[in-house]
Amino acid sequence: MESSFDEAVLITRPLLPTLQDVTSKLSEVWESKWITNNGFQHQRLESELKSYLNVEYISLFTNGTLALLLGLKSLDLKGEVITTPFTFPATVQALDWNGLTPVFCDIDPETLTIDATKIESLITEKTCAILGVHVFGNPCDVEKIKTIADKYHLKVIYDGAHTFGAKIDGKPISSFGDMTMFSFHATKLFNTVEGGALTFKDEKLVEKLNLLKNFGLAGPEEVVLSGLNAKMNEIQAVIGLEVLKIVEQERQKRHKIKKVYEQNLAHIPGIRILTNLEKDCSSYQYFVIEIDELKYGESRDWIHEELKKYNVYTRKYFYPLCSDFQWYQHLKSAQFSNLPVAQKSVKKVLSMPYYGELDLKSVVKICRIIEDLYISNLGITQKNTKMILS
Ligand SMILES: *Cc1c(COP(=O)(O)O)cnc(C)c1O
Repeated sequence: MESSFDEAVLITRPLLPTLQDVTSKLSEVWESKWITNNGFQHQRLESELKSYLNVEYISLFTNGTLALLLGLKSLDLKGEVITTPFTFPATVQALDWNGLTPVFCDIDPETLTIDATKIESLITEKTCAILGVHVFGNPCDVEKIKTIADKYHLKVIYDGAHTFGAKIDGKPISSFGDMTMFSFHATKLFNTVEGGALTFKDEKLVEKLNLLKNFGLAGPEEVVLSGLNAKMNEIQAVIGLEVLKIVEQERQKRHKIKKVYEQNLAHIPGIRILTNLEKDCSSYQYFVIEIDELKYGESRDWIHEELKKYNVYTRKYFYPLCSDFQWYQHLKSAQFSNLPVAQKSVKKVLSMPYYGELDLKSVVKICRIIEDLYISNLGITQKNTKMILS
């Protein structure tokens, strides 16, 4: 049997540049005495991300949630938006803050993204958009979603918080849909401590988003729309510029970790790896497994608790479903019977420790613990069976 880890193994650690690199860049900011409002570092990060992500237009925000909230606002949407219940609360909360009604659509059992085959039946005359989430970096069925959106004249927005730098068939993931949101939160692969961005194709939105994130101020004495304050500041931008230099190296480390997890978990009955379905480019954001209680012999919740005894802290991403939030209980689409796949999957997913500094021996050890737990369990099940038989 494996022993417990001496130090707690957490699900992630922020990707941090060296303090020295950050301080030398910060001195530029100090000298400029310009610390927010589209400063030099902000402009640099915007242009570097534009080429890194290979996008036409990008707008930076103080966090991903406000990016999505204001991105939806910029599209002048009204009515209902078809979305997924299997996501982080921010996705649907951004709809709430725009006075938009979420219509929950069930998810695909393989990728856990919105099930595009079930979208059409949810469309009403009030539907204005589809908001998909590239869950754990697994891309939504972007082609099918585009076909539906074109047919019914709907906008398509993607929450790409997990898909920094990912591609679909060689194309940047943000080239699909009208708009994609990225989160640069500390827990995301690329971070600016807190931060986010929108990428989009419509040039007209550049100015509108600039207004929306800065109180609608068109000039010192001219307010043209009701905006918010959602600007990224110079300190965030400095962190971003430094993190961007090391993100490729982090990807490579996570690639190795991913392979070790895959090799050591593949043969354990009841364990399915969810984050190996990307078409041609992993996001390396999470490493997520699904536990089939019937085959493994114990539930996801049980493994989650058992692992804590070994000082390993996993997370139930995403749990609970957004459709189960109490303020959506009046929605027909939030009913249990409307979301059979999501209701099943939400009980099975478990996000494993995953960050570049996690050493490969620890990864092997975590896999062995999961295997040992299965085997010891098997013993008990067989004993039980014997007792029942005799
Ligand atoms: C992290 C995350 C967000 C929120 O982004 P913030 O930058 O933390 O505001 C939204 N959606 C998903 C799917 C996320 O994982």
